[in-house]
Amino acid sequence: MTNLEDYIRDIPDFPKPGIVFKDITPLLGDAKAFRASIDRLAEELSDVACDAVVGIESRGFLFGTALAMAKDVGFVPVRKPGKLPYDTVSREYSLEYGTDRVEMHSDAVKKGQSVIVVDDLIATGGTATAACELVEQLGATVSALGFVIALDFIPWRERLGDRDVRALLRYG
Ligand code: AMP
Repeated sequence: MTNLEDYIRDIPDFPKPGIVFKDITPLLGDAKAFRASIDRLAEELSDVACDAVVGIESRGFLFGTALAMAKDVGFVPVRKPGKLPYDTVSREYSLEYGTDRVEMHSDAVKKGQSVIVVDDLIATGGTATAACELVEQLGATVSALGFVIALDFIPWRERLGDRDVRALLRYG
């Protein structure tokens, strides 16, 4: 059985000193490992209601689109500001220094729908929480969030509240 952890490369001090960056490109570059990651995400989330997969720019697009295909549902991108061409909803969230913002098309999810929010990794949970709030603002429900990696030594749960968070690899 493929050990996904073998395909995650630690890059110390990237993009700045003190951060250990989890590089998922070896996983993407290996057909078996990439397929295994999508199969396992689909399995991990098989009991969850899902009308669409919402993926967070940009590595969330890689896993989110593949998961959407596996689950036979559509894909919705959550993007950095100014990238989406149609009418958008927008959410600001705080970073260690300053703030950031994510956007989604205002017609991308419909009232009453259930969606899964996907990214490659959860650290502080700020980005994922903002993505959930966009979905909820439009009257849809986040039935679960799916990640390849959860950095459990960072207190992301404080931001995510009681939302259902699932991850394939946990570093704690
Ligand atoms: P956060 O909002 O703090 O949960 O950060 C999540 C976003 O930042 C995700 O899109 C990740 O891809 C990226 N990210 C944060 N920390 C790391 C890390 N140590 N390694 C790789 N990506 C990271």
